[in-house]
Amino acid sequence: MNNIDFQTCIEEILNETRGLIGKGRVADYIPALAEVDPNQVGIAVQTLDGQTFQAGDALVPFSIQSISKVFVFSMVFRAWGDRLWSRMGREPSGNSFNSLVQLEHENGIPRNPFINAGALVSTDCLLSISKNPLKDILSYVRGLAGNSKISYDSVVANSERETGYRNAALVNFMKSFGNIENDVEAVLNAYFHQCGLMMSCVDLARAFSFLANGGINPLNGEQILTQSQAKRVNAMMQTCGLYNESGEFAFCTGLPGKSGVGGGIVAVVPKMFSICVWSPELNRHGNSLVGMKALELFTTRTGISIF
Ligand code: GLU
Repeated sequence: MNNIDFQTCIEEILNETRGLIGKGRVADYIPALAEVDPNQVGIAVQTLDGQTFQAGDALVPFSIQSISKVFVFSMVFRAWGDRLWSRMGREPSGNSFNSLVQLEHENGIPRNPFINAGALVSTDCLLSISKNPLKDILSYVRGLAGNSKISYDSVVANSERETGYRNAALVNFMKSFGNIENDVEAVLNAYFHQCGLMMSCVDLARAFSFLANGGINPLNGEQILTQSQAKRVNAMMQTCGLYNESGEFAFCTGLPGKSGVGGGIVAVVPKMFSICVWSPELNRHGNSLVGMKALELFTTRTGISIF
């Protein structure tokens, strides 16, 4: 790893992929997200030996959206352990992130934690063990990223609440199968806030470091998950982390990763580093157009992937 010039590599990739801006679309089904300036690109790499490499808008906080699913899932995985698997599966869905279709056939048990239905169950599990879930989520991600300034964007959270009919449908539907323990409004409120967390590429690359480091936060040595649990989260990111484009992402990058409709994608190279790319315009699957291409170029040029 020492002989790879990460700084030059990410700067070159950023300049080359910037040309894709204009070919995608900023998420507009959440009105507050539609207002984001699409001409932004950031890349950050955080190595396990403590180096941070950054290029472009890597310090600009953005709406992490579905990337929050990894954080809340990790919180409840630690607390609930394997009991979680009676509430959700770990198979790719092959459907869009907010789909309802499988839930009816599968008795209200979501396919995996990284589609909306699964994330809503994770949030419900958190509500069952936390008196103040929003405070707990915030202190968890602040600790992981080593940044006490991370906060929620309540404008985005409220915008989602006003238009979140599908998420409301999902949570009510699962409640009808007995797979939601708490009040649906409370689950939705926590879920919309976690999606509205504002973090930069640098924050996210740091916050995912524990997944590159066998479950231990390299910033402070704290055990976040067991090594086995970290392996499982990475495996699910590999198979389910990019909606129904997870296969394409694995094919292009050979890395576990998680995307969000705010335009961020975080990927993990176990035992080495984590990397985050952000650019708000999305492809038709809801993944960052620049992010997909940048990560493909990165793993191809450096020759680093898990395969
Ligand atoms: N808050 C978004 C939703 O639930 C998250 C979607 C995403 O990033 O995949 O619709």
